[in-house]
Amino acid sequence: MTAPAPSEKALVPFVSVENMMRLVHHIGLETLLCELTDVIEADFRRWALFDKTPRVASHSREGVIELMPTSDGEIYSFKYVNGHPKNMAHGLQTVTAFGLLAEVSTGYPVLLTEMTLLTALRTAATSAMAARHLAPEGSTTMAMIGNGAQAEFQAIAMKAVLGITTVRLFDIDRRASEKTKRNLEGRGLDVVICDNAQAAIEGAQIITTCTADKQYATILTDNMVGAGVHINAIGGDCPGKTELHPDILRRASTFVEYPPQTRIEGEIQQMEPDYPVTELWQVVNGEATGRSGQTQITLFDSVGFAIEDFSALRFVRERIRGTKLFQEIDLIADPDDPRDLFGMLQRSLD
Ligand code: NAD
Repeated sequence: MTAPAPSEKALVPFVSVENMMRLVHHIGLETLLCELTDVIEADFRRWALFDKTPRVASHSREGVIELMPTSDGEIYSFKYVNGHPKNMAHGLQTVTAFGLLAEVSTGYPVLLTEMTLLTALRTAATSAMAARHLAPEGSTTMAMIGNGAQAEFQAIAMKAVLGITTVRLFDIDRRASEKTKRNLEGRGLDVVICDNAQAAIEGAQIITTCTADKQYATILTDNMVGAGVHINAIGGDCPGKTELHPDILRRASTFVEYPPQTRIEGEIQQMEPDYPVTELWQVVNGEATGRSGQTQITLFDSVGFAIEDFSALRFVRERIRGTKLFQEIDLIADPDDPRDLFGMLQRSLD
């Protein structure tokens, strides 16, 4: 998008929750997840171009509020996102978000959008992208531990991108697993509710942990994890909030998004500062090896990185073009004479 002419009003496209839902239905969820996986992968390939910084986090006893900025030199993006594990008990989402894209050349925003749904979509697409490079070939079965807001998106992305056929669910609250099973009905997946995490991972080549608890939790212990599996650990994404016993990390080959952020927030916060990790973008690029053997345990220590949000925002900006799935909002004060901001205010009384 080029800079607006001086007399044009600089209206900013805004995608509401309602319109984001319409966009997902318009494209089709599985198609969208496949396309988004490819868009994220394309941005991982040009990783070196991006401004990178660990997200700016404001922690409290109840949770965290974070800002996640990045830029590829042409487009800038940020996401506002929270993580409040206790919210669910009060009928609120654990994770909510909105985000913005702006042109680097003018600093003018070019998209404002809800990102609660978009975060679930991009997190699922990122998991699928990582699994595409790390999971055992021909994986058919996934264990999904933690059956909250992210769960169905994770399962459907693994089906759409990797072709898994079975999902084994476990949550400490059985109602969450029942909800997930209900939501996945008719989507071409065999869904099995299990009584504990051990039972859920039986026969699974891909194990996704996606729980929310602000503590060092042990969703998986070392003895539960067999050789050759791929673990996709999503829920440990904040200081003091992890899901895996450290002994699993001692056996696994660990892949991360951006080490300076993951060492603060990921499963590896439990390990020594020089614990070896591979950056996922290097695997995507062919600069590092992903899965190297049948018995290797691969771990994607996912925390969520700004470049994934950038990709998701870029995708939405592209896909709303020519549709009615956005409103134009008057977000930027843009007087005809750029130096006459006061005059614009004054004239608004007339
Ligand atoms: P949610 O609150 O909707 O769901 C979490 C589920 O985990 C709940 O159903 C809860 O009952 C279950 N749970 C808690 N402790 C458990 C345990 N010990 N064993 C089994 N189940 C357990 O949260 P959500 O939106 O689905 O998010 C899940 C996690 O993923 C959160 O921790 C969130 O911060 C994280 N997250 C990470 C990323 C990323 O990019 N890595 C993105 C989004 C969310």
